[in-house]
Amino acid sequence: MSAVPGAGTVLSVVIPMFNEESALPALVARLRPVLDGIGAGYGGAGYEVVAVDDGSSDRTAALLEDFRIGWPELRVVRLRRNSGHQAALTAGLHRAVGDYVVSIDADLQDPPEKIPEMLELARSGDLDIVYGVRTDRSADTGFKRRTAGVYYWLMRRLVGDRMPSQAGDFRLLSRQAVDALKELPDQQQVYRLLVPWLGFPSGQVSYEREERVAGETKYPLSRMIRLGVDSVTGFSAAPLRVATWLGVLSFFVCLLLIVFTLGAFAAGHVVPGWSSLFIGILFLGAVQLICLGLLGEYVGRIYTAVQRRPTFFVGYDSADAPRSVRAATVDETRD
Ligand code: UDP
Ligand code: MG
Repeated sequence: MSAVPGAGTVLSVVIPMFNEESALPALVARLRPVLDGIGAGYGGAGYEVVAVDDGSSDRTAALLEDFRIGWPELRVVRLRRNSGHQAALTAGLHRAVGDYVVSIDADLQDPPEKIPEMLELARSGDLDIVYGVRTDRSADTGFKRRTAGVYYWLMRRLVGDRMPSQAGDFRLLSRQAVDALKELPDQQQVYRLLVPWLGFPSGQVSYEREERVAGETKYPLSRMIRLGVDSVTGFSAAPLRVATWLGVLSFFVCLLLIVFTLGAFAAGHVVPGWSSLFIGILFLGAVQLICLGLLGEYVGRIYTAVQRRPTFFVGYDSADAPRSVRAATVDETRD
């Protein structure tokens, strides 16, 4: 089995983690036997686990270093600061060297035991992408299930049926697919949309979403909304047209109001007019604010794209540093 990344590494497993100290021991205990088994099955072919520490403030980094002592295939990539799940995934994809790259969450909500099945399917069917599709989400909260339902429905309307419903970030990618993703200039990547959009031959493996093994979700409502907005604005300019349609609609409403007012005037009614005027102003004000907000989302994207700032900074990679320097670097980044 090769511990040196790049030398015959068949499989890279990328795991973004943010403050996952409580989930780590269980993750290692379940993941390692599976991966050792795959290595043995493929005649001692190598694998690497790319643990991307997304600027954790707990003991995740220290624990990873401890695990690395007894597990040479574990590679630790540490981002300088918390950059978000998708950015951590990007860092992992850019650093991974395997012929196939699997991304999986650190909290064991995606079962590592499915990885061999994914690899087998990709190899036998000559597929570039194998999605992990959740068949049962009863372990998630009702709120999470409902918001996810709306999200996938909307995304399938935007990206088309190529996007499998209920496929999150547990998936396998071939080297070709990873290289294609790496070439994309996108800044705020949302991989569950980008990957189907690439159009590579793909397959699916279904699994039951388990409960988080320990710790709490790192996706509060604000981050879910951010992911939703990035997903929509990254893939469609249709919301911009909402402004036009709202404009047309309010124009016709105004025409109706004019007719009504003229009618009332002709009939000799004295229209007090305050409420209709006030409602009209409120309505138009709201429409304008919505449209401004929409424009802002896209201008924001253009702004980030023009800045061309990287979405993450790697502070430390255990595979880069020679052994003697590694300990010092780790101490330095541990704070
Ligand atoms: N994560 C990350 N950076 C973040 C937030 C989350 O790397 O800023 C990781 C997290 O450690 C986990 C994965 O992304 O491995 C999915 O997050 P989580 O399980 O909290 O999301 P949920 O399953 O609740 O949607
Ligand atoms: Mg989770």
